[in-house]
Amino acid sequence: MLIYNTLTNKKELFEPIEEKKVRMYVCGPTVYDRIHIGNARTAMVFDAFRRYLEYRGYEVVYVQNITDVEDKIINRMKEENRSFEEITEEYTDSYFEDANALGIKEPTYAPKTTEYINDIVEFITDLISNGHAYQVDGDVYFRVKSYLKYGQLSNRSVDDMLVGARIEVNEKKEDPLDFALWKSAKPGEPKWNSPWGEGRPGWHIECSTMANVLLGDTFDIHCGGTDLIFPHHENERAQSESRTGKTMAKYWMHSGMVEFGGDKMSKSIGNVKYIEQLLTLYDRPTIRFYLLSKHYRSPIGFSVARLEESKSAVRRIYNAISMVEEQLPQEVKEGRYDEEENEQFNAEIEKYLDDDFNTPAAFGVIFDMVKNTNSLLSSSIGNAEKMRLLAYYHLIKKWGKLFDIFQGSKQVDNRLAVKLIELLLDIRQKARDEENWKIADEIRNGLNFIGIAIMDTPNGTKWRYST
Ligand SMILES: [Zn+2]
Repeated sequence: MLIYNTLTNKKELFEPIEEKKVRMYVCGPTVYDRIHIGNARTAMVFDAFRRYLEYRGYEVVYVQNITDVEDKIINRMKEENRSFEEITEEYTDSYFEDANALGIKEPTYAPKTTEYINDIVEFITDLISNGHAYQVDGDVYFRVKSYLKYGQLSNRSVDDMLVGARIEVNEKKEDPLDFALWKSAKPGEPKWNSPWGEGRPGWHIECSTMANVLLGDTFDIHCGGTDLIFPHHENERAQSESRTGKTMAKYWMHSGMVEFGGDKMSKSIGNVKYIEQLLTLYDRPTIRFYLLSKHYRSPIGFSVARLEESKSAVRRIYNAISMVEEQLPQEVKEGRYDEEENEQFNAEIEKYLDDDFNTPAAFGVIFDMVKNTNSLLSSSIGNAEKMRLLAYYHLIKKWGKLFDIFQGSKQVDNRLAVKLIELLLDIRQKARDEENWKIADEIRNGLNFIGIAIMDTPNGTKWRYST
């Protein structure tokens, strides 16, 4: 398997540290807002890559952190005059709600920064004692020039950074490039005890620490969006490698950005970039297909047109599957098919996925099968053709299931489904107002049975997909 390593700027043969085991770290959300399609893309492409690694027989330890201490959270706290805990709890829950609704698997570990403060303090203490960090008035900074490989990951020289970066004027720092590991407490901000006084960790040290505790000094793959290469990943690498003297991650993979405003249409969908709203307009297979239909490293434009294209692409696949089911119901159940044809197309899909996880090329093979299916179905066919049709049918379903895109033969219209669920919740509320608990429970159990979980909260009844 080849993967493109940002560190070396080329595709490399993937060789995990431990045979048949992959340890990977994906930078997760900062919990200050609901997630939008850009956040979802990073989470989804690496989740899909994980699914493929598992399919290839690897045991994957997948860590995706929750950043629950950060400037953006503190700003939100001040803007809305709410407590730190209120904000982080709300948006941690909503992150998992949205990720779950998109079919993103739960990580093996989803560490929260606030649960790792002691480890962070220990990490920083080590960096101070080996000369890579220094403290000034309760703040601790990383001494960038002490790490000679600084700039290697983002492929820029220290001089470029000085010119290009917006560097805040801060007289406490020895060098303008140095960055904060620990920030002394300001009034009204969340704070923890440390040898340098009360304060909170900087963003970069959070990831370095959680990755180290959960995955060890060296792990296989570090992932995130391309916007994180500099400074976030550059800083993570500097901190981790300065502490251990070892390579932090063998491979660095970065997913492209979702581009908003590239066309006029994206403006018209405004808030819909949030997953919560988007899911009321488009179903999960459409959104998943949209996000995986471009190569993970390329930028992807966000527009109604692209989403509509994805919707009809998914529909073409569903139609092919359901036509085979209608025309060959017995044969579908029997499970026989042309094995040679199946293997040939399967090998082609694997070949593309093995080549730096080229999902669009793999989807192209699926559309070749859809095309073959349609042309076979439009003529009178003998047994050999039937077996070929069934080879495509089973293969399309197999990959559809792996990527959670086209599993069944029916595509749900999400807009309609959401309206129906809300209608049922309204009826249930009326039943509850009239103390008709039997009807209320029947609606709850019925929805539960079809995969909709209901939560009664002080702010009304909420629902989410429970599968
Ligand atoms: Zn990170």
